[in-house]
Amino acid sequence: MNLAKTLLNFFRSREDTYAQQKSDGSYTRIDAHLKLEDIQSHLRGEKTVGIYVISDAYSNKCHFCAIDLDTLDKHILRKLTSAIIKEGFGNNALLEFSGNKGYHIFFKCKQPMPAKLLRQFLLVFLKKADISLATERFPKQDSISVNGFGSLIKLPLGLHQKSEKWSNFLDLKLEKPLAANHILNIENLEKEAIEAFVRQNKKLIAPKILPERRSVIAMTGTPPCITQILAGVNEGCRDVALFNLCVYYLKMNRLSASNALDKVLAWNRGNTPVLSTSYVQWKLNYINSSKYGKIACRMDEMQEFCKEGCQRKKEL
Ligand SMILES: [Zn+2]
Repeated sequence: MNLAKTLLNFFRSREDTYAQQKSDGSYTRIDAHLKLEDIQSHLRGEKTVGIYVISDAYSNKCHFCAIDLDTLDKHILRKLTSAIIKEGFGNNALLEFSGNKGYHIFFKCKQPMPAKLLRQFLLVFLKKADISLATERFPKQDSISVNGFGSLIKLPLGLHQKSEKWSNFLDLKLEKPLAANHILNIENLEKEAIEAFVRQNKKLIAPKILPERRSVIAMTGTPPCITQILAGVNEGCRDVALFNLCVYYLKMNRLSASNALDKVLAWNRGNTPVLSTSYVQWKLNYINSSKYGKIACRMDEMQEFCKEGCQRKKEL
């Protein structure tokens, strides 16, 4: 097996750019094609490559997806891998110790699939395993903007530049580390199987507006989607909701960062589960220093919140 070639094929990603990890663990984006030589030097530990999961802003499709578990707690990891096995996707899941503080579980798609569908697919496992803290789904977004790149994930089997530990594969029962050629055992996901699985579990992942909070809020002059978001959102929507709330308070209402923070933290306390305060703070600061000026009524993820009265409601 040519390992570099196998990785390049398994982890197909955005083709016009990739990223390189720095010694503090953060990444610099490289404006170039990821080449076989880059992967070879990744495997030798000379540099560590990160790849952008969504292939482009026009299709918003991905060739693979992953759950990122940001904990070394084997009990939590086992809950997740058990759920994956139980639901019949054990042969599709590639488990990796990330080389730092957690694990990645990768799934490879037979053909490029919409980011949104893959995020729903991954969410089912998080719901079934009943874990929400310290997890992320890659792709992190249903779609990216034309100038955006979306999130990146570290390519497996490299050296983590901060922890200086190597990544390695593990079996799903967590009994042993596995050699790199384990990747050849992983079966591709079929689109029909994912769609059927998501359909079966629609209720589990459906966003819910909590009725008891809806009546509490009577606001005038507030965009319908913000009113909906303030009434509470479910887990899968917290991030997009937070993003737009920050934009709304900071950019549209021109609140100070600390006043806006009070408001989003108050909103967050009504979420189940809540987002971490540090994450809320980070997001707010990020948006405060960004050029976002308006809430994103056009985003696919916002469609369930936006109604008539939202200026840029997407034509469906
Ligand atoms: Zn809206």
